[in-house]
Amino acid sequence: MGVLDPLKGFKVTFKQIFEPRVTNSYPDQKRPKPARFHGRHVLNRYEDGMEKCIGCELCAGVCPADCIYVRGADNPPDSPVSPGERYGFVYEINYLRCIHCDMCVEACPTEAITESKLFEFSFTSREDAIYTKAELVVDDDGQPRHLPWEDWREGDEKLTSAWMRATSPSGSADAEGKVHWSAELGHGTRKPERGQSDLAPQDATPEMSLRERAAAKIPVRFGGRVR
Ligand code: SF4
Ligand code: SF4
Repeated sequence: MGVLDPLKGFKVTFKQIFEPRVTNSYPDQKRPKPARFHGRHVLNRYEDGMEKCIGCELCAGVCPADCIYVRGADNPPDSPVSPGERYGFVYEINYLRCIHCDMCVEACPTEAITESKLFEFSFTSREDAIYTKAELVVDDDGQPRHLPWEDWREGDEKLTSAWMRATSPSGSADAEGKVHWSAELGHGTRKPERGQSDLAPQDATPEMSLRERAAAKIPVRFGGRVR
């Protein structure tokens, strides 16, 4: 090692001092999450308030971590819970096991189960880690319920769906570029992402990458906009 080599190392350090900061003061300041981020699940409802879950157990069957427990029951004729014959009578997700792979979301035939952007939640008991149906079903405004041990911030509850069903049913060309998901309580029909339909980019759901979001802080030579 030459005598001047340490100084060369410090030269790199000093240059960085005058670069814009790209780090955030987490957890006080959280950066926006990507549109397809897999966080804590929600069970969605239709615009009329009915639950989308029909208790078919497909999500439980496909889950590689075996962490979903569902039991279906016949809808009471006088006060049906879902539009189908059956509804999810019991629904539990064990977050000590969940790996947020989203296979349950992909498998669900009614778009009942989707994921929010929340991942900042922790528990001190096994009971709290097993989320029940009452905790997972969205409230009367269609928003996820906030539990005491969850750190919700603005945006974590947004875009819980709208990206699935990107492919057309059975590959039919007639279905290409058309929205094929149902409306949701509190949100209506979620807009597709850019490229998923014939919507103009400015009308579609924004799906900027993290690099795009942080471009104002990143030097040009690393793909940002800072000169
Ligand atoms: S995200 Fe994956 S691991 Fe978690 S409940 Fe769904 S299928 Fe199971
Ligand atoms: S969440 Fe979907 S896949 Fe799971 S039981 Fe309900 S309807 Fe079936």
